[in-house]
Amino acid sequence: MITLKGADVSARIKEEVQDALEKLDGIVPQLAIVRVGENPDDVSYERGATRRMEKFGLGVRSFVFPADISHEAFREAFVKINQDPEVTGILLLRPLPKQIREKDIMQVMDPDKDLDGICQGNIARVFAGDESGFAPCTAEAVVEVLKANRIPITGKRVTIVGRSMVVGKPLSMLMLKENATVTICHTRTADLKAACKNAEILVAAAGRAKMLDAEYVGKGAIVLDVGINVDENGKLCGDVDFDSIHNVASMATPVPGGVGAVTTAVLAKHLLRAALRKSKEQK
Ligand code: NDP
Repeated sequence: MITLKGADVSARIKEEVQDALEKLDGIVPQLAIVRVGENPDDVSYERGATRRMEKFGLGVRSFVFPADISHEAFREAFVKINQDPEVTGILLLRPLPKQIREKDIMQVMDPDKDLDGICQGNIARVFAGDESGFAPCTAEAVVEVLKANRIPITGKRVTIVGRSMVVGKPLSMLMLKENATVTICHTRTADLKAACKNAEILVAAAGRAKMLDAEYVGKGAIVLDVGINVDENGKLCGDVDFDSIHNVASMATPVPGGVGAVTTAVLAKHLLRAALRKSKEQK
């Protein structure tokens, strides 16, 4: 089984980003990371995204708000960030605390700055197969892993375990756009094992530690693991029992170091796209 490493994919994306940067005549795109509260997952993602932007030569600034900020105060601050001409793109870390009405915040967000594809305008474009929209970075990272490794998608049976708006649903649309035949599974799927085993490309995005073992994988299948979980020993692991699938799968992404390592590279790519679009509009 070949291990598909996220670092190799990110290195390719870095080259693309660097080429695109040259077209910007010295303008450095700026990412605004917006975080409310001190959720450790958010802090860790923010750290990873910041490091990635710096490595790619892009600007990044964090805007951090207290967990108990009122909806009105946060909305006002968010509108300012959104309207700031210095801000090329925004990463809003979610979920937001309960008192903040996410839908309302998404409505004020400029779709052209919404790099993680969370607002309605981008969701609609992704579902319409319109490439001008930003897809959620993690969903797109899965497609990037396949493309960077020259794995054909057209006509393939793709099974996705998970139907969230962050991964499963948008990814199913991206796969359809690539002409795959897509099956989406969830907690009510009657025969998960059969649906997974039938897949030529299997994507796990359920958030359940090591739930998919060799019995769920068809001979020669390509397995992409989006899950980020902690196992019984406190170690980071995916939704796939990586060690068990060695003799069945032909290729698979590890956790950590697989799809997750590509997500912030896609974010950087989106930032460049936003900057190029803006610079074209200004010409
Ligand atoms: P959600 O909890 O929002 O969604 C999980 C989905 O998986 C749901 O649709 C759920 O079904 C389905 N599911 C859960 N358990 C089972 C099961 N036993 N059998 C079949 N389906 C199941 O998670 P997210 O989509 O936000 O994230 C999924 C995973 O991806 C997580 O581990 C998360 O940490 C990771 N992730 C990684 C990112 C990265 O790499 N940067 C970014 C985002 C997420 P139902 O709808 O029926 O409840």
